Amino acid sequence: MKQAESINSPEKQPEDKQGLWWQKIPLTGQILIALIFAIIVGIALGAGNPSPTNAALINNLAVPSELILRALKALATPLILVAVLHTFLTTNIPGTAGRKLAALLLTNTTVAILIGLLVANIVRPGTWGRLIAPEGAQAVTQANLDPWGLVKDAVPESILKPLVDNNVIQLIVIALSLGIVLRAIKSEMIAQDKTDYKPIEQIIGILFECVIRVLNWVICLVPLAVFGIVAKTIAKEGFAPFQSLFAFILAVLLALFLQACYYLTRVKLQSWVKPIDFLKGGTDAFLTAFSTSSSGATMPVTFEVLQQKIGLRESSAALGALVGANFNNDGTALYEAMSALFISQVLGLHLNLGQQFIVVLTSIFASVGAANIPNAGLVTMTLVFTSVGLPTQYIAVLVTVDWFLDRCRTAINVMGDMTVSTLLDGKKPQ
Ligand code: ASP
Repeated sequence: MKQAESINSPEKQPEDKQGLWWQKIPLTGQILIALIFAIIVGIALGAGNPSPTNAALINNLAVPSELILRALKALATPLILVAVLHTFLTTNIPGTAGRKLAALLLTNTTVAILIGLLVANIVRPGTWGRLIAPEGAQAVTQANLDPWGLVKDAVPESILKPLVDNNVIQLIVIALSLGIVLRAIKSEMIAQDKTDYKPIEQIIGILFECVIRVLNWVICLVPLAVFGIVAKTIAKEGFAPFQSLFAFILAVLLALFLQACYYLTRVKLQSWVKPIDFLKGGTDAFLTAFSTSSSGATMPVTFEVLQQKIGLRESSAALGALVGANFNNDGTALYEAMSALFISQVLGLHLNLGQQFIVVLTSIFASVGAANIPNAGLVTMTLVFTSVGLPTQYIAVLVTVDWFLDRCRTAINVMGDMTVSTLLDGKKPQ
């Protein structure tokens, strides 16, 4: 929690007080400024008719985004590992409620991904315009559905290999196993009045903070990446490629809206709370999520509105808000699946049902592993792309719209946590 807050309020950190002037502008402002400069530079460099003398310069504009992508890929696996371990060590999940919670999380996330895939298959945003091919994006090696292969692939050959190979499913298997065992050891020690578990808990807490801080440095460079990739795209191809990105934004917003309708229907049918009270009571949490892009930073607000404004029992509010904020990221899952489909459409590839099933599976794992901080979904997306053989270089293109879509999916992540709490509260008010 603390970590997530520190990500969102870098100005609170002492080293940032003497930061450079542009660091005082919020990230969204920096990205908007970068976009304006990118349009000017892109037009100046030819807007679709570049002069051959500028070819090298134009190509080099994409270098920052390539480097940022590399760094995000490198951070993905440690982030998932420590985030999952940290959650298991620091949150308390009682037995029966825990099973109900797991079932709710799984159904909601699966529905989110199915909605995402459905909308992406119907709207087909990737066919609305042509995207520029990023440097180094190679032909895909398409993976086919092989259920036995999936099971076999879930069991890692060694502990460190999934970290090196960026294999999300194996990594989550390792993280969950270690997390469950560490949690059990901690509980046994607490029962025996021992505190030997504390150093490992502290080490994992510090490692989590470290990964997040490094991620924060990388995120600081995102405006530069946006500038480079947008300027290069406009210089080479003019404005046409943005049509499909615009269609992608609309498609994601539509899918997130449908997911919100699904939540409200479940709230109406399976709890004592009226959907309108749920929406009114939750406004503070939705707005905080939208403005911070972090369900972790929103967690205290979510917890408070669930109890004070919606009137849930403390235990249900705590389970949904505290555990959900860590593990339940439906908006992120929906977004990752849609992004994979979008890029496959851009490339003119048809992901068959089997391959879309792999997308569903890896998106579930990737969303569980996505920490509750800004842009985390972008980090774990590299793993979803790798699983179906899509070139991760295309994620650089998505960076240009992620600052906005991150806010929207975070609001849905929070709404998902609140829905889980409300459903756990049952049909009778307290
Ligand atoms: N920003 C999201 C959250 O905090 C995670 C993501 O990037 O999808 O919930």
